[in-house]
Amino acid sequence: MTTSLKWFKKETYKKIREESIPDFVKPYSARTYPNILETIGDTPLVRLNRIFKDIPGNFYVKLESGNPGSTKDRIAHYMIEQAEKRGDLKPGGTIIEATSGNTGFGLAMVAAVKGYRCVFTTKDKISPEKLSALRALGAEVEVCPSAVSSSDPRSYYARAKQLAKDIPGAYYVNQNFNRDNANAHYASTGPEIWRQTHGNITYFVAASGTGGTISGTARYLKEENPDIKIIGVDAKGSILKKYHETGIYDESEVKSYLLEGVGKNIITGNTDFDLIDEFVQLDDKESAHTVREIANKEGILVGFSTGAAIAAIKHIKHKFTEKDTVVILSPDHGNLYFSKIFNDDWMREKGLM
Ligand code: PMP
Repeated sequence: MTTSLKWFKKETYKKIREESIPDFVKPYSARTYPNILETIGDTPLVRLNRIFKDIPGNFYVKLESGNPGSTKDRIAHYMIEQAEKRGDLKPGGTIIEATSGNTGFGLAMVAAVKGYRCVFTTKDKISPEKLSALRALGAEVEVCPSAVSSSDPRSYYARAKQLAKDIPGAYYVNQNFNRDNANAHYASTGPEIWRQTHGNITYFVAASGTGGTISGTARYLKEENPDIKIIGVDAKGSILKKYHETGIYDESEVKSYLLEGVGKNIITGNTDFDLIDEFVQLDDKESAHTVREIANKEGILVGFSTGAAIAAIKHIKHKFTEKDTVVILSPDHGNLYFSKIFNDDWMREKGLM
């Protein structure tokens, strides 16, 4: 059976034009973009209606999956443009980075548009989906062991540094120490959230890895209103929470864990600890189950680190009142984790079910 437009009467289309098009066609539909990079940012802020129904306050998730890749597209674009302006990256050059996947995606996208070569190092716990995406965009990727210290020559940091020395015309992006990472969020994520909440935001909650997202966004928000509270989300097995509370870098805190992009075993140059009011530490199991809960209760597919950030709200629920407007940053899309969190076999194999 074939369907045909003839089946519908003219009046039907007239009715759709009058009733529905004004609701569906958002202002941005009226424009085109000169290239994919210009679509980065301006992501939706979506209210969470069921998951925190017993907690007072207004909860919103900033869905960075609205970017072509993830929230890291913002920093990739910004860091490369700044490097070009400084003359650190020249035409025909090679972009080098140690990445858990999302920054690599952003950099590979920028590189494809601008014609650079990309060589990345990553950890063996990377989602196969993320690894495939990097290679699909033309990046060369070296997979390194997760369970080694950052100073070990086999670590993904050490390998990236070595490649930057070996490859002529290389530019090592170094998202952990390159302040343009945090500055990208100061320039875009912070102002967007301020405008989207009409200045009513009282809490900002974000997972912290390099620290760029939380520090850049927090700087902008606290400049607008110093009373806004900033909650950092850390992983059990990372040093951030203890360092924030005691000023001590305690290597004995370092354990391997499955959360991607959350927590650190080094003190990065992009984490402005003074801007963060409190860190909450989450484990793999609670974070993974919270990802499934968001999918079931809100109809939103989010990544592993968003599960940690949403779970963090439950740990500090006593802080919130009806008057609060809480924004939780969601770095990436759940479709990057189908082989992991949404896969019962993987969950059982890792002892998470
Ligand atoms: N979540 C995911 C999935 C990430 O890839 C990252 C970045 N590594 C983060 C959270 C943390 O963001 P940031 O590095 O800006 O602290």
